[in-house]
Amino acid sequence: MTDCCVEYGCPRERNTKTKQQGTAFHNMFGAVVVGMGTAGSVRIRDMLAPLPGSTAEKFAVKGFVSRRSLETQQGVSQIPVEEALSREDIHVAFICTENASHEDNVRMFLQAGKHVCVEYPMTTNNKTAVELWDLAQEKGVILHEEHIELLTEDYNQLKREIEGKILQEGTLHFTGGPLKPGFGFPAFSGIARLTWLVDLFGKLSVTAATLEEDSAKSYSKMTVKLLTSENRPLTWIEERQPHLPRSKNIHFQFESCSLTQIPSVPRGKVGLFMQDLIHFSAKLVGQVIPDESQREKVRILHCLELADTIQQLCQS
Ligand code: NAD
Repeated sequence: MTDCCVEYGCPRERNTKTKQQGTAFHNMFGAVVVGMGTAGSVRIRDMLAPLPGSTAEKFAVKGFVSRRSLETQQGVSQIPVEEALSREDIHVAFICTENASHEDNVRMFLQAGKHVCVEYPMTTNNKTAVELWDLAQEKGVILHEEHIELLTEDYNQLKREIEGKILQEGTLHFTGGPLKPGFGFPAFSGIARLTWLVDLFGKLSVTAATLEEDSAKSYSKMTVKLLTSENRPLTWIEERQPHLPRSKNIHFQFESCSLTQIPSVPRGKVGLFMQDLIHFSAKLVGQVIPDESQREKVRILHCLELADTIQQLCQS
């Protein structure tokens, strides 16, 4: 079982009751899933068995696209990418490939006038992310970037505990196994951790960043020094090596107390990808106020801009 299966629920473990594909709902959004890895399988699973009564019921999965030639997945057939781009009954694409090919896929589906939900990070550089948002606006479609790390129960408890406290300094140290090729520079593949810091402490700036690597041991450690807008220092470490346990360690020093552990809270009833699906579909049906979408966009672009700066500093 992979890390993802453990953390987010394996697609093979669920889905006993499935929705008939292409049912005669009005105003349904025909959807295609691009990239048939862990995330792509979860997207199909969730669209086939959406949370009853939620806007996630608005999706009708029409097929999946893969570079490999695959058999039917969970009852869904593979279709060529050209078909996915041109079919009028396909309105939405879920981009679930490895990070390096997000950009091209997102652009292609936006160009074709489809709404896009892309797994984080949208791109592996900031400039193209700005271009893609502009393209979505020009085409009048929704561009949504998944951020399930903001939806976990433990994160939300941590955020509640931090609220109102005055930070003096802090560290977020992530450890995990090595990534497969195509997931990009650590500042981008680890954008979920950076997003936590930005969501907790607001706009940040980068003061220093280094990357230690030992390819013989598949070891990498990125250390980033950040400052909050109140000039409080934060350190973000991304460390990967075979057999390193996947975990996040925190040490946040506030004026009143320190927090050294992420609260341990039971998982919620609704899966993280399902929550994201509901959020995306709510945007499609106009239930998310533009201010909220704008705040998300600003946060996403700020994180990608920081990731860009971090990469440049590490490579200079
Ligand atoms: P994955 O390694 O399972 O799949 C990535 C890509 O590799 C997919 O395009 C898939 O089709 C392809 N692939 C998988 N197995 C293959 C094989 N045997 N041969 C050839 N190609 C193969 O990665 P993933 O976990 O699904 O991640 C995809 C995206 O989702 C990434 O952008 C990631 O950051 C994001 N994401 C994943 C999770 C998660 O829990 N898995 C959580 C948040 C975000």
